[in-house]
Amino acid sequence: MARRKKIYEGKAKILYEGPEPGTIVQYFKDDATAFNAEKKATIDGKGVLNNRLSEFFMTGLNGIGVPTHFLKRLNMREQLVRAVEIIPLEVVVRNVAAGSISKRLGIAEGTPLPRPIVEFYYKDDDLGDPIVSEEHIIAFQWATQQDLDDMVALALRVNDFMSGCMLSVGIKLVDFKIEVGRIFEGDYQRLIVADEISPDSCRLWDIETGQKLDKDVFRRDLGNLADAYTEVAQRLGVLPKNATPMTKPTLIN
Ligand code: 5GP
Repeated sequence: MARRKKIYEGKAKILYEGPEPGTIVQYFKDDATAFNAEKKATIDGKGVLNNRLSEFFMTGLNGIGVPTHFLKRLNMREQLVRAVEIIPLEVVVRNVAAGSISKRLGIAEGTPLPRPIVEFYYKDDDLGDPIVSEEHIIAFQWATQQDLDDMVALALRVNDFMSGCMLSVGIKLVDFKIEVGRIFEGDYQRLIVADEISPDSCRLWDIETGQKLDKDVFRRDLGNLADAYTEVAQRLGVLPKNATPMTKPTLIN
């Protein structure tokens, strides 16, 4: 069988040409990186968990009318998604201070924020994804004012959905990052949620204990990352409760 054409390989995923025009196969790797790839490891089962968790969140979002690129899961590590033109910005929503905002503004980690705060970072590994203002984004034509308004609206709807999902299983959604892509329908363009939504791109804290259940476990050497992601998947009902962590997870179909 002919190999599929690889379009792009990133730190955690590989994109292949999809079976039909306008589709892409997104493959989730077990590789974990942090601090702009200064710290690297392979974590057995991470790709399988993120494939399944991203499917869970994106399906839920599609179901409430928040458009995403997700079409269907193909197998343990791959999902079929719509091809989009990625806007070169990371959109971060924060509910509680942690990570870079705590460092930058001297706000203690865990301080609730007065309202969800949306930030934009310019996607550029060489620059370490710097935070940028709307002024920069419009002046350098990374996106238009309309795109920005649409991105903020999308990000806040994702925040509402994800916060509710997590709250229902005893987890606080501290913050998360999404990426947004353009799709073209005739003369019109629409913005949709792209990339992935998984514990790699969120901060998730247990409401009772404060235990971290996200990529900070890897960033800060707090334990086994796959165990943390398995815990999230089990609470959400994506994995059966008795699934053993973790090299080969049992998935509920
Ligand atoms: P911070 O700016 O505090 O480092 O990150 C804020 C949130 O966005 C965290 O949930 C973090 O996981 C996510 N995030 C920021 N940049 C990236 C990135 O380049 N990749 C991933 N996977 N998540 C990111």
